[in-house]
Amino acid sequence: MSIKSNLEKVISDIRNTEAEFGRKDGSVKLLAVSKTKPVEDVIEAYNCGQRLFGENKVQEAEEKVPKLPSDAQFHMIGHLQSNKVNKACQYFSCIQSVDSLKIAKKIDNRCKVLDKIMDIYLDINISGEESKTGFNNDDNLISVVNEILELKHIRVIGLMAIGSHVEDRELIKSSFKDLKELLFKLQNEVEGFTADQLSIGMSGDYKEAIQMGSTMVRIGSSIFGSRY
Ligand SMILES: *Cc1c(COP(=O)(O)O)cnc(C)c1O
Repeated sequence: MSIKSNLEKVISDIRNTEAEFGRKDGSVKLLAVSKTKPVEDVIEAYNCGQRLFGENKVQEAEEKVPKLPSDAQFHMIGHLQSNKVNKACQYFSCIQSVDSLKIAKKIDNRCKVLDKIMDIYLDINISGEESKTGFNNDDNLISVVNEILELKHIRVIGLMAIGSHVEDRELIKSSFKDLKELLFKLQNEVEGFTADQLSIGMSGDYKEAIQMGSTMVRIGSSIFGSRY
């Protein structure tokens, strides 16, 4: 299968799933996750009309971003280390993997220097697995979110999460539902919290994610093939 036909199939599946669950046509954006894949593959997807790409390593973005036209946008979706923040702020248009107050402050500081405002998502650990990064959905979260909203060079636009790695479709849906409820809670309880995006859904669970309110699915292997 070619990248072109994979991309066409994923896009038509997204549109069909929107229709199936009463979601507005075009309300779910596609982030094509090109991590570990060569830049030629990214260019091929770009030539098919894809403009949004996801990478999980700053070094890979550093290599690929300059080789694409400037209307291609890259989102950071992997855990960001402090010492990579400066480059991340240069190459990414959005950082979806903000998982601590410390990293939010570093991004804010750097963007102040660059005189820009970075769109971010808060990475929430919805699976409850200890090994995963992300903010825990606990009592402390509201005060952390309040502090993040004070930062003037970042704009919180949504929540991002990785679904639980289970076969049980109902369990996957309920973890996505928890995330949607957290978004509503933050909108209701935190003054100035206007974020309304949900970045959920990967190759294995994007239909469930669209059903539960995803506004952006992050799809890698179904477009670019499996990673080894
Ligand atoms: C790799 C990755 C994806 C894409 O995963 P696929 O299963 O290949 O679609 C999505 N989100 C994050 C955070 C990832 O690391």
